[in-house]
Amino acid sequence: MAKVRILPGDDNSNGWSRILPARTPQPALQSEVRADWIVLGAGFAGLAAARRLAEQRPDERIVLLEAQAVGEGASGRNSGFAIDVPHNVGSSLAELEGSQRFIRLSRAAIDYLARAVEAHAIACQWSRRGKYHAAVSPRGKAEILEPVAKELDALRLPYRWLDHEQLVAEIGSPYFHAAVHTPGDVLMNPAALTRGLADSLPDNVTLYERSPVREIDRDNGVRLTLPGGSVAAPKLILATNGFAAQFGFFRGRLLNFAAFASLTRPLTAAERAALGGEDDWGLTPANAIAGVTLRLTQDHRILIRQRFEFGPSLRRSDAHRAAIRRDHQACFAARFPMLPEVTIEHTWTGYVCLSRNHAPGFGQVATNVYAAVCQNAVGVTKGTIAGLLAADLACGQDNPLLADMQSLGEPVALPPRPFLDLGVRAWLGWEVWRARAEK
Ligand SMILES: Cc1cc2nc3c(=O)[nH]c(=O)nc-3n(C[C@H](O)[C@H](O)[C@H](O)COP(=O)(O)OP(=O)(O)OC[C@H]3O[C@@H](n4cnc5c(N)ncnc54)[C@H](O)[C@@H]3O)c2cc1C
Repeated sequence: MAKVRILPGDDNSNGWSRILPARTPQPALQSEVRADWIVLGAGFAGLAAARRLAEQRPDERIVLLEAQAVGEGASGRNSGFAIDVPHNVGSSLAELEGSQRFIRLSRAAIDYLARAVEAHAIACQWSRRGKYHAAVSPRGKAEILEPVAKELDALRLPYRWLDHEQLVAEIGSPYFHAAVHTPGDVLMNPAALTRGLADSLPDNVTLYERSPVREIDRDNGVRLTLPGGSVAAPKLILATNGFAAQFGFFRGRLLNFAAFASLTRPLTAAERAALGGEDDWGLTPANAIAGVTLRLTQDHRILIRQRFEFGPSLRRSDAHRAAIRRDHQACFAARFPMLPEVTIEHTWTGYVCLSRNHAPGFGQVATNVYAAVCQNAVGVTKGTIAGLLAADLACGQDNPLLADMQSLGEPVALPPRPFLDLGVRAWLGWEVWRARAEK
């Protein structure tokens, strides 16, 4: 039996869900329940796992448990990019083959999500606008963007190269030196998408929200204990991302980081005109640790995602968030000098889970337990495909993408704490300093 020591405790400031109409979550679990399957965690991974199980086993009962309201975890509070090509790829044959696998998996995830969005008319501003991968400095252009462009050539993937002037014409901000635009990435409101997926689950899935699991017992099948009751089933798919270690899996192998994002108020018509450029775009930074992710949403808000911190406690204070908002306002002012009056309306914290070797926590991890965790900060696509494939694996359903997923390896062991903390903080500090021109 394992007791859960850290429960999800996200702040209630997620701008993506605050700007949506109110939604009534499904009731919390308040009884003793038996099912054929349990899926734990209703982010992209758990939602895909539950939907896929329901498709594969229409006569079996699936229980999906979520500690918070759907859309309030990381899946509803990210930057809203479904990424189809890796941010940065290497040029060796092995790395290129790895990139091809990444692309096959990501595209399958995007197709799966696109079908659900269309079939259930999920209003999440889903748009296949692609994304800009942008460098601030000439050095960032030479050291990151030019190699990325070469690798996209080697992979025979379409892209556009934009110099400063072309980029200003498309996004309005004069801040960037150059960018590579890839056309296959999708932008959306991730809270709206997550909610929409949860609210359109097949009938044989029962979703319990605000239902935190406090204990797991795996002696005879799986039994999960919650404050209001329990669920027992022969099999479990664990989709709790960075919380997996709380259930006894991938201990000492997963790294949790806090990431922070802000949304401005909508621009007025005059401000939108002053910004110029096109509507509805997304930009990722050449250096994801030091740089800033930006979006202009369909309703003319600007998103800023900036700063990573080591976050093993999975908690950040409101005072810290207030300080981050000031940093984000300064980032905004530097990038959008033509919008001096635009203020930030929402700032929130979320957590990403990484492994040292960027491998996912995927596969059968115990007799009755399958995992789809550790999405390495690209969980919209990686979480979706991991959840779907975990369900196929658990059902014994052949899927050619399983080989791609399994070839990604498994998370390697980390050094023990406190050496780990010192190492990670030193690495983050070095990365931010080394790439300071990209901020
Ligand atoms: C600011 C920010 C920006 C990001 N930008 C992007 C982006 O643009 N594109 C992208 O692909 N990724 C992005 N990410 C990463 C992405 O959000 C994650 O990779 C993704 O959400 C992981 O999905 P998941 O389903 O595996 O995990 P999660 O979304 O974390 O879902 C796991 C769920 O398990 C639940 N849970 C945990 N413990 C328990 C328990 N004891 N009982 C019950 N439920 C439990 C949690 O509440 C949670 O909802 C970003 C993340 C952040 C924070």
